[in-house]
Formats: sequence, C-alpha cells, structure tokens
Amino acid sequence: MKTYNIITYGCQMNEHDSENIAGLLEAMGYTHEDDAFKADVTVINTCSVRDNADKRFFGVLGQFKKVRKNNPDFVLCVCGCMPQQPHIVEKINKQFSWVDIVFGTQNIAQFPQLLEQRLTTGRRQRAIVDNNPVITEDEMKPKRMYRHKALVNITYGCNNFCTYCIVPYTRGREKSRVMSEVVREIECLAQDGVKEVMLLGQNVDSYRDPAGHSFADLIKAVNDIDGIERIRFMTSHPKDISDEMIDCFRTCDKLCHNIHLPVQSGSDRILKRMNRHYDTARYLEIVDKLRAVCPDITISTDIIVAFPGETEADFEETLNIAKRVRYDSAFTFIYSPRKGTPAASFPEQIPDGIAHKRFDRLVDVMNSISLEKNLEYKDKVYDVLVEGVSKNADDAYAGRTDGFKLVNFTSDRKPEDIIGTTVKVRITESKTFSLEGVEV
Ligand code: SF4
Repeated sequence: MKTYNIITYGCQMNEHDSENIAGLLEAMGYTHEDDAFKADVTVINTCSVRDNADKRFFGVLGQFKKVRKNNPDFVLCVCGCMPQQPHIVEKINKQFSWVDIVFGTQNIAQFPQLLEQRLTTGRRQRAIVDNNPVITEDEMKPKRMYRHKALVNITYGCNNFCTYCIVPYTRGREKSRVMSEVVREIECLAQDGVKEVMLLGQNVDSYRDPAGHSFADLIKAVNDIDGIERIRFMTSHPKDISDEMIDCFRTCDKLCHNIHLPVQSGSDRILKRMNRHYDTARYLEIVDKLRAVCPDITISTDIIVAFPGETEADFEETLNIAKRVRYDSAFTFIYSPRKGTPAASFPEQIPDGIAHKRFDRLVDVMNSISLEKNLEYKDKVYDVLVEGVSKNADDAYAGRTDGFKLVNFTSDRKPEDIIGTTVKVRITESKTFSLEGVEV
C-alpha cells in the first residue's frame, strides 16, 4: 500500500486545496501516513504571504534531501502560492534537485497525471499556469479534515492588488463559481452529515456569478439548505461589503454572528498607500451597521504594522481604531516586503527595531481587549459545535461558539457521542484566546 503526507502552510484556501489533493491521492489508492518523512509521496503546499513562510519552506525542503538519499523511490512535490513565482521555481530547480513535481494553484486537477508521469518516466514534472483561475471544484472529491464542517470555495483569485499582497500574482484574477453549483455541493455535504460550511474566497463580498447572483443571494440560498446549521465566510473586504449582505445577519438564521473584517491600518494615508479603497470613516460605518443589525456579532481583523512610510502618528491611529472597534481577536503582522509587489519598492521602509516595538504595543492593546471581551462570557451558557478532543487535555473537548470563540470544556460523554454535535456549555474561565467550560 503506497502512502502520502501533505504539509500545509498558510490560509484556509490552502487547507482546502490540500483536502482536494488528499482526495486525488486516495482515489489513486494512496493512504495517509502521519510522518511526512516516511511517506512514499509528500506534498508541500506552500504560502507566500510573508517572508518567514518562504524561509521556513526552504528549510523544510532541505530536510528532505536525506529522505531522497535513503529512498530513491520517494516522491517530493511542491505546490501552492510559492511556485507561482518564477524566481522560486528557478531556485527550486537549481538548489533542490530532489523536488520531483512542482505544480501551481491552478494545476491541482493535473496532479494525478503529473504523479503518474513522474512514476513511469522518472523525470521531474513542472506545471504552472498563470492568471487564469480554472474552476475544477466539481471534479474534486476532497478528503475533509472534519466530518461535520467543510470548506467550500466560492471564488478564486483576487483583483484588488493591495500594494503589499502577492495573492493576485499567485492565484490570478478573480472568478466566481456558479451559485447553483455551490448550492449543489453544499446540499451533498449536508446529506453527508456536514452541519457547518465556511464559504471561502479572497474577497467573498465581490462574489458575482455569471447570472448576476451576489454574495447576499448566495448566503440566502445556502441558508435554505436542510441540514446545514451554521454558515461562515472568509474573507470580507470593507470596500465591497453591501448593505444587503449586512442585512443577512438579521434575515438568515444560520449565518453565524461573526465576521472577519480586515482593517489593515487605522490611518487613511496608509490605507491609500495600501490601495485598500476605503477609509476609516467608511470602515467604522460598516462596523456600526453590523452591530446595529446584529448586536452580539464578534469581529476579528488583520492589521499590518510598519507598512512603508508609517509614522508614529499613523500607528497611533491604528491603536485608536482598535480601541474604538474593540475586536474580539486580531491577526497582527509586521509588514513583510514581497518581491514583485509595489510596496516592496516603496521608499521609507521601517527599521526592524521600530517595527517590533510598534508590533508589541499593538499586541498588548489587542490582547487586553480580547481578554476583556472574553470575560463577558463567564458564567453564561453557549451552544458549542464540538470539533474534537481538546489540544490542551485528553479528557476535554474543543468546539466553537456561533461567534467563533474557541471553547475547551469537559463532558462525561464519549468522543463518538459528542464530536460533531452541538452542546450547551457553561463558561467557567475566560482566557485571552479561548474560553473554558463544562457541558450542562
Ligand atoms: S484583497 Fe488585497 S490583501 Fe486580500 S488577497 Fe486581494 S490583494 Fe491580497
């Protein structure tokens, strides 16, 4: 029996791509091996959003040299965003001769053929297409990470060209799936026992299928599917979010009361340099509308610190917007120049020392707000969809509230009786990044 392993870096799009790749490998008769260094085929699904992801990837690639030396039949594959950049493929070809197959974000359906060719000819395989998102979802049978929840792509690629971001170059221009196909896929998932779907796109708010259906239309259609209990989506863009979509939080009972709404900076001057196409007044107007329609909505965000040219005054404005919105959680990053993006050649790159100090100050503010917000949950009872055994303790379970709060809790029930079900949990302790509780 041949085995495979997939190492996945990056976002949920990559996670879902890895589910599709796993499905293709299992259809070829491969079974999963937990250790990437012992599998017959290992796939590294890469992320290119930050420089440290690049460095980590090349470090991992180096470790496989020994595996190849000891096992000439071992097949090493690289996919994801990194190979969409020609200089990366050139580096792999020159310095990492033990990489057998390299394929791009839009070549996943071709992977079985590339693997067959590698196995029959022994020759290295390369397949990268550029700027032409090919929708292959209907050909895929993903091997899902969870039985009760599923990732569902609704758009591919991105048209926004934020000046710091590599994604439009690695995933091509935006394309929306046909609404009826998305609905059909989710109906099948529901029949298979899936209760929660996460609708995925780089910018879900700009979803528009060939028949003119909007993202709000899609949410309403998914809300009508029997068996689906929770709908989530990722990621929203403040420039494209519509009032009709915001109103879905009132009209669609299955839409979770949670939104990830990247702000990136609290300075209008920096937002302009980032090419974000909204200002802080518009952003705050959206937040106020969301809270008016859905008072208990939880809001998370992304923030980049030390974007080129960011002054102390700009940074203070980021702190101010964080305090004004009071985010439940935030992904905070120090700006990382990506080769080929406009911002990488902007003058006034911020020295590391200043960047790290600002980052630490921001994290302190965000964490104290997260803890304050989590303390409001203490002694209250919430519905928690149970995901599995807790990573913190074997005798506890982990799940999510409707608002996406991570809850670790105890219960007398066996894993087979509780995982994938929704239970009531009393919160006994609030931490910065999670809640603890007991089933009631
Ligand atoms: S919206 Fe901006 S940050 Fe998001 S993927 Fe597109 S270019 Fe990147």
